[in-house]
Amino acid sequence: MISIAIDGPGGAGKSTIARTLAKDMGYLYVDTGALYRAIGLYARRNGAAPGDTDRVTALLPDIQLDLRWVEGIQRVYLNGEDVSEEIRLPEISMAASDVSAMVPVRDFLLELQRDMARKHHVVMDGRDIGTVVLPDAQVKIFLTADPEERARRRCRELEEKGLPGDFQQVLAELRQRDQQDQNRAAAPLRQAEDAVLADTTGLTLEESLALVKRIVKERAGNDL
Ligand code: C5P
Repeated sequence: MISIAIDGPGGAGKSTIARTLAKDMGYLYVDTGALYRAIGLYARRNGAAPGDTDRVTALLPDIQLDLRWVEGIQRVYLNGEDVSEEIRLPEISMAASDVSAMVPVRDFLLELQRDMARKHHVVMDGRDIGTVVLPDAQVKIFLTADPEERARRRCRELEEKGLPGDFQQVLAELRQRDQQDQNRAAAPLRQAEDAVLADTTGLTLEESLALVKRIVKERAGNDL
C-alpha cells in the first residue's frame, strides 16, 4: 500500500489539497483532524472541562468512531450519528486541539488511522502523520503558510458557510492552536526529517496543488 502523509498547521489548505490529490490519484482521503474534532465534540457534549484528561479518558470507551466516504467526501460518525458538519464549528477546533494533547486520546486513534493505511492507498492529513502515525509513508509533505494568510483563508471558508468570522479573532485562535499543537508533549506538530516543506504563502489553491503534485511525483515517481 502507498501512503502520502500531509502534515501542517490549521488553515494551510491541507484538507482541500489532500482531498483533491486523493481524488486525482484514486486514493482514499483520510482527514485525521475530523477524528480529534469528533472526540472534542463528545467531550464538550458531556461537560468535560478543557484539559480534564481523566474525564475525557473515562469517556473514551463510550465512543465509537466510523469514517465513511460518499463520492470521495469523508463523513464522520460518532456513535452512529453523522457529525460531519457540527465538528467544523470554530469552538470545536479548540476542543479538538485540547483533547489532542491527551496521550490516551492519541493512543485511542492511532490504530484506527494505521488500519486505514494498511487497507488502502491513502492521502492522510493531520499533524503527526509523517512523524508518528505513518513513519514509513512513501511521501511526506509539510504544508504551511504565513499565519495571516491562513487566517484569511479560514475567514473565507467561514464566510462561504454563512458563518462570517472576525479576522483578528480567527488569527488569534489560529495562533493559539498552533502554539498548543507545537508545544504539547505528545506527538507535537513538527516537520518530519524526511518531509518536504511546501510553503503556500502567496500561492493560489491551484498553484499549491500543482506544487504538491510535483513533490509527490519527485518523491514517489515510479512507485505510484
Ligand atoms: O486539521 P484540523 O484543524 O481539523 O485538526 C483539529 C485539531 O486536531 C488540530 O488543531 C490538532 O490539535 C488535532 N490534530 C492532531 N493530530 C492530527 C490531526 C489533528 O493533533 N493528526
